[in-house]
Amino acid sequence: MKFHIHTYGCQMNVRDSEAVEALMLAAGHERAAGEADADVVIVNSCTVRQKAEEKAVGKAGNLIAAKKVTGLMGCAVKRLGADVFKLLPKLDFAVGPRRFGLIPHLIDRVVNGGEHGLLEVGDDEVPTGIDAHSGLARAGAPFQSYVTVLLGCDNRCSYCIVPDVRGHEFSRPAREVIAEVRSLAEHGVTEVCLLGQSVLRYGVRNAAWDAGEPNPGGFNEAFPRLLRSLDEIPGLRRIRFTSAHPSGCTDELVRAYLECPKVCRHLHLPVQSGSDRILADMGRRYTREQYLAAVRRLRELDPEFALTTDVIVGYPGETEEDFEATRSLMEEAGFDNAFVFKYSPRPGTRAARLPDDVPVAEKERRDQVLLADQELRGQRRNERLVGTVREVLCEGPSKRNRARLSGRDGGNRIVVWKAAGSPPPVGTPVLVRVTEAHPQILVGEAI
Ligand code: SAH
Ligand code: SF4
Repeated sequence: MKFHIHTYGCQMNVRDSEAVEALMLAAGHERAAGEADADVVIVNSCTVRQKAEEKAVGKAGNLIAAKKVTGLMGCAVKRLGADVFKLLPKLDFAVGPRRFGLIPHLIDRVVNGGEHGLLEVGDDEVPTGIDAHSGLARAGAPFQSYVTVLLGCDNRCSYCIVPDVRGHEFSRPAREVIAEVRSLAEHGVTEVCLLGQSVLRYGVRNAAWDAGEPNPGGFNEAFPRLLRSLDEIPGLRRIRFTSAHPSGCTDELVRAYLECPKVCRHLHLPVQSGSDRILADMGRRYTREQYLAAVRRLRELDPEFALTTDVIVGYPGETEEDFEATRSLMEEAGFDNAFVFKYSPRPGTRAARLPDDVPVAEKERRDQVLLADQELRGQRRNERLVGTVREVLCEGPSKRNRARLSGRDGGNRIVVWKAAGSPPPVGTPVLVRVTEAHPQILVGEAI
């Protein structure tokens, strides 16, 4: 059958969809040219905010109306459980985020067995096929691949539904991760991004290093050790990872950055708030000062170290003063990029028991203020790079201007330059001297 997967949400979902694609191809199905052409459509859902969940459920509803065999997978399924069939009575199947390995089997039951309304939410299992890669070019960047190393989350931040839907932490054995990356590199992947909700906690709960050998250094060493092993893989050029918690910015991590040339000097380090009172209420387990100490440590190792973050505005009880603390923290940290989210209460979380007392219009205003600040800051940060030479892996023509080529530097900054002659193959390293800075991109010329 011809299938299509529609993905909402984070990189973890993108990766899960890729694994499902590989499992579907292995089961003899075929990739459709697009949604209209597909017999089966799978919607991979997000539930981190209410709007995200509504989008995915709405999309599945439209597909059902268009008479496609429709499945919903991912985080919203785990949150809704059997209630998903109250919202979508004609849904063929629904699969939680740690059960996607069952999808080809469920499709067989629907298509050949005439069943429908199948539900598999599961719990803390490691999905079969978590290491499956289809080898198909990822749109725009066939040389890049995500690799999930840490499943689930045990942090339980007050506002967050992720631990409820993605389950407890499980670190995949290092030898399995290394084998996966080695195989990707042999197939032409030169850049990997290791995924985990709090990826620096890799190896904390289970001895992840090796079956026979317990993780020797505990929390502080498992992840840096993994980086060292991956750094030695021939053919690989870049190693990234996301997301990080400041408690993981240890001496061992700093040493790994310094000693592993393939590890990119970019970190996504979500801060959420700059107010100690809000951070404590959120249960983030760091203070503003501890967060800024982690930032200083990374910028001391490399002043060009790129830092990106997530911030929530309008958390219950967030005052103007708390908000101003977030603003000033963002300025002190000098973020290269920031994603701002308006607080959305998630049923069952601790914060959902507090009144959602910041009015929508005020959340919107705070969002806009932070985005405007970030535009100016991004511009300033990028201006410091004018005249420098960036190593960029070419991703092909720029979407905005086809006469330009586009790619990213080690800091994950988008760099564009004028194409001369026929464009180099996707993934080719190009040295670009920066001539112009913009808030979100660097413009330069190939040298
Ligand atoms: N594990 C990552 C975050 C995963 S969720 C980390 O902790 O670093 C991605 C982002 O969504 C979070 O960083 C947070 O900024 C935002 N988010 C999570 N729950 C939210 C909620 N209830 N309302 C608004 N934003 C939320
Ligand atoms: Fe959610 Fe916190 Fe876990 Fe991130 S660390 S997924 S914000 S509970």
